[in-house]
Amino acid sequence: PNTKLPKVGTTIFTVMSQLAAEHGAVNLGQGFPDFSAPQRLIDETSKAMAAGLNQYPPMTGVAPLRQAIAQKSLDLYGATIDPDTEITVTSGATEAIFNAIHAVVRAGEEVIVLDPAYDCYEPAIELAGATAVHVPLDPQTFAVDWDRVRAAITPRTRLLMVNTPHNPSGAMLDEADMQALADVLRGTQIYLISDEVYEHIIYDGRRHESALRYPELRERTFVISSFGKTYHCTGWKIGYAVAPAAMTAEFRKVHQYNTFTSFGPAQYGFAAMIRDEPQHHLELGAFYEAKRDRFREQLAGTRLKALPVPGGYFQLVDYSAISDLPDHEFVKWLTIEKGVTAIPLSPFYETAPVGQRLVRLCFAKNEATLDAAIERLRLL
Ligand code: PMP
Ligand code: GLN
Repeated sequence: PNTKLPKVGTTIFTVMSQLAAEHGAVNLGQGFPDFSAPQRLIDETSKAMAAGLNQYPPMTGVAPLRQAIAQKSLDLYGATIDPDTEITVTSGATEAIFNAIHAVVRAGEEVIVLDPAYDCYEPAIELAGATAVHVPLDPQTFAVDWDRVRAAITPRTRLLMVNTPHNPSGAMLDEADMQALADVLRGTQIYLISDEVYEHIIYDGRRHESALRYPELRERTFVISSFGKTYHCTGWKIGYAVAPAAMTAEFRKVHQYNTFTSFGPAQYGFAAMIRDEPQHHLELGAFYEAKRDRFREQLAGTRLKALPVPGGYFQLVDYSAISDLPDHEFVKWLTIEKGVTAIPLSPFYETAPVGQRLVRLCFAKNEATLDAAIERLRLL
């Protein structure tokens, strides 16, 4: 049939979480913490509900949250942002990505996507009547080849999408990348989406290269983030987009007829957290770094080969010492026969590298969960 999204089925995250539940597997697939959000966040959100803040919040997001985001962006990235004209709160980063694409991309245009890429990018591009042009990252290091990006630009290119720290690899753009990115876009009319949902999950003293640090990039960029990752509450689906006023005005035209606004009480909760516990942003890296290091030490006792994890809460592992199955079959086998659920990498690609034997494990889990998984993975 002549459907609008012929390539799309149920997302791999849903498929694997269902399979994990069916088989009682330890679910290290879909990315979500299995520990609670901060009690203070829950209390502040409940307080807002009890205080009667239960009707439509402003279309743009509640003022204290937009002010808190502006303050955070100044403190961490040195960026001066107008909370009234440059910040919009959304129902997760997913909504922000959809809005940004639909705000600027017209039918027949092209959007450059770096593969492997998060799964919501391409369908949103296709619904805009545009085409995703896929540029592969380095298959070993997941670094960007900026010459290839430049070579992919055509007169129809409207938008480039980057993601740092990167899902699924954890790769992070560095300062040289940001200079190269600015060089590639200079003199073009191309917009940028910088998906920074893992901005605070960073390790080894490295700094997150937000596009907000670079005034030249700032002018053409939608910087998108998500409180789900930062405050262990992926189910609340609150995120935001920062963009120059003219771009934000277009973004809001889509937002107001997409969702119009997002769950209000949580917005007051996040505002209180950012205002009163700004150190959380700096402590989150250390919190996950301990989990990362412990998990990697445990993986060393298995036949899975762990790739480096510069940022984010995903560990890529090479399973070629164990199996020759393609990744989508390997994750089914691992779930059904071995009781551990992972995410295959091929759904993140238009064309996955031939012979790649990588799957993604989420370590945003309690020690007991990771221990249970490792116990099973040791038997592979
Ligand atoms: N971008 C990336 C790279 C992600 O990993 C995710 C969450 N899996 C999102 C966007 C979507 O974030 P949210 O849940 O806030 O919609
Ligand atoms: N972002 C999560 C991941 O990469 C999944 C979110 C979802 O299920 N849509 O695992």
